[in-house]
Amino acid sequence: MGKTWDGKRYHTLNHFLREKFGGKVFKISLDAGFTCPNRDGKVSSGGCIFCSPRGSGDFAGTSEDITEQFHEVRRMMNKKWKSGRYIAYFQAYTNTYADVKVLREKYYSVLNLEDVIGIAIATRPDCLPPDVLELLSEINARTYLWVELGLQTVHERTARLINRGYGLDTYIASVRELKRRGIEVVTHQILGLPGENKQDMLQTVDFISNTGTQGIKLHLLHLLKNTRLEEMYRRDEFRLMAMEDYIELVVDCIERIPESMVIHRITGDGPRDTLIGPKWSLKKFEVINAIEHLMMDRDTWQGKRYTPNIDIVNMFI
Ligand code: SF4
Repeated sequence: MGKTWDGKRYHTLNHFLREKFGGKVFKISLDAGFTCPNRDGKVSSGGCIFCSPRGSGDFAGTSEDITEQFHEVRRMMNKKWKSGRYIAYFQAYTNTYADVKVLREKYYSVLNLEDVIGIAIATRPDCLPPDVLELLSEINARTYLWVELGLQTVHERTARLINRGYGLDTYIASVRELKRRGIEVVTHQILGLPGENKQDMLQTVDFISNTGTQGIKLHLLHLLKNTRLEEMYRRDEFRLMAMEDYIELVVDCIERIPESMVIHRITGDGPRDTLIGPKWSLKKFEVINAIEHLMMDRDTWQGKRYTPNIDIVNMFI
């Protein structure tokens, strides 16, 4: 058998954070009150077709004050886990889309809280102007930071279909800028996007695998109420993934991701009240167990089929 991480056949975030910080680290999802240029009209007003009205921040706290929101989520977590350290996760909407003064104030307000050992910032690659990059550099020098970018797919035709609102060249340029400053990057990929077949999705994972970045998040496409994706679904323009197909596909993806890359997610959390489908995704632990069992049956592990691609590697240097 190949390498394992705490007995698992893939390099989990849990393992990575434990190794780095020597104990349990939790992420606290926040909605800092930002919007998104893909929703407010700057890039487009429709948003990505799958995006929920809460800007993909459905698990954030509800208080408007960000530190209060942090404490609210933390109190909920403390019911289950008494102690731990925390990464404040700016999740909802586009978390670098504001004046740099506003960003500074929001980031530092949680950074200064007790037991916060880092922050994670989810954003779009077209929202990283020089002054924001400078602020991120400053924060990176002071604490542990990673930046999450929602690439979702490497294919431009799908990017147009989902109304992502920026091209692959923008992603490449931003990753280079972040890497140049020593800032860790985590890329999101969605599996099951309309019009994509297995080959298309494997091409995306191969691309991300060669960026030389810290991590990847694999999401199942969730169909949520009140999204443009829902309208497409009602018009029968695409099918949702079956659980068996998803499990096979995730294992194929994991095999192609290099050992060094941290896998932050292998499913996705669809909000129960607005999820139309696939409903099987609500049984998250069943899905994760099935993925791990298939890896055992195949006697496979992360990186087994990783193929370095020098052309892609060079794009990110
Ligand atoms: S970039 Fe993020 S917040 Fe903006 S529309 Fe797309 S998924 Fe939603």
